[in-house]
Amino acid sequence: MRIASKEVSAVSLVKEALRKAHEFEDYHVFISMNEEAALAQAAEIDAKIARGEKVGRLAGVPFALKDNYLSPDGETTAGAHMLQGLTSPITATVVEKLKAEGAIAIGRTNMDAFAHGSSTENSYFGPTLNSADRERVAGGSSGGSAVAVALGIVEFATGSDTGGSIRQPASFNGIYGLKPTYGATSRYGVVAMASSTDCMGFFTKTPEDMDLLMSITAGQDPKDLTTLPDYYNSSEVKKVKRVGIIKDFDNEVVDADIRKALKEKCELLESKGYEIVKIEMPTLKYALAVYYIIQPAEVASNLSRYDGVRYGFRSKDSKDLDGLYENTRDEGFMPENKRRIMIGNFVLSSGFYDAYFLKAAKARTLIIKEYEKAFSECDFILTPVSPNPAFRLGEKVDDPVAMYLEDLMSVSLNLAGVPGLAIPAGKNAAGLPIGLQLVGPRRSDKSLIEFSKELAK
Ligand code: GLN
Repeated sequence: MRIASKEVSAVSLVKEALRKAHEFEDYHVFISMNEEAALAQAAEIDAKIARGEKVGRLAGVPFALKDNYLSPDGETTAGAHMLQGLTSPITATVVEKLKAEGAIAIGRTNMDAFAHGSSTENSYFGPTLNSADRERVAGGSSGGSAVAVALGIVEFATGSDTGGSIRQPASFNGIYGLKPTYGATSRYGVVAMASSTDCMGFFTKTPEDMDLLMSITAGQDPKDLTTLPDYYNSSEVKKVKRVGIIKDFDNEVVDADIRKALKEKCELLESKGYEIVKIEMPTLKYALAVYYIIQPAEVASNLSRYDGVRYGFRSKDSKDLDGLYENTRDEGFMPENKRRIMIGNFVLSSGFYDAYFLKAAKARTLIIKEYEKAFSECDFILTPVSPNPAFRLGEKVDDPVAMYLEDLMSVSLNLAGVPGLAIPAGKNAAGLPIGLQLVGPRRSDKSLIEFSKELAK
């Protein structure tokens, strides 16, 4: 708006974002910058405005792209050595839609390699630092995007959420992060992690910005057959009466300050006339186990395309074709990528398929049903995003199970395909942000965003 009315120029906004990106360089937010192209796009927008031409709803707004969104300007690495050197010929649908409205990508943000992780420490390029405490992790896998918004470098950033990768870093940095309903936004042109749970969403500082971004990017895409017809823009905002609290998530496993924040938000809602209902969701205790079977199985399949022949990195000095595959995969993948490929192939192997993958698929159906039942008892659910605020760098990186436990409260949404919005809920005594998440039935994204305004004091 301020740009269209010529109050500020697009070029000055982009220059300011680039200046801040440099000022905060040691947080390691970006893997690569897009300075020249960004300034050229901004100049084009200013010229259009000067000529009195119509510009898009995001004209001149600088943003940051998680480095797994493909676009032809610059390399897309997905935080991995394996993709270094890859310049994509295609543009992700979400990026295309944002650009069509005039948004300007200033750089690509750091992430766990192939989005495997909860801290951004699995990035080949080294970790991103938390925006509130430089000795702590940014969260992951979209850590760079979350910190880019939290530090005020950009107005918004893209993320991908397969099991919590938008919501958890949003909560670790005190901002909003939306994992939309599965299929609300297109996955086309984003490096695939687990195709049945991958969701494309955003980090913003306000619910209003989130709403605008969803209204621009939601909708059916012929290039992604799992996308839903655009329900977002025709959604009626739901009248909320009852908010559910999951009994099993209110115990000592969860950090005391997070439980306190949850209690305070419940009291706030009650004071506004909403009813808080305690709901039982006993099947959710299996969600983490189910996720860490289904997700690696899909990862093993999706990552099998990286063989040193078609994309990015190729190991040198291999003697034969098998050697080329082996060396490329050995050198190109991070340890966590390899772990998931091995788990995935194990649970899919003929002797173990029935015992693991098939069982997990059945349990997933029970989780879906449990959410359906829960939403017959309440309109939305309010829960923690993760059991703790941002942890210290290095604290969990050598203990995969401890890292997986970070995802305890986030993965069931991906398995069920329901939307979740991480919202800021204050800070603890050490100044670390605390986040909560609002969960709704499928296709309730718009109402969820609207309702989150009730929780902002
Ligand atoms: N932390 C989860 C994992 O490691 C989720 C990752 C994601 O959502 N991309 O699988």
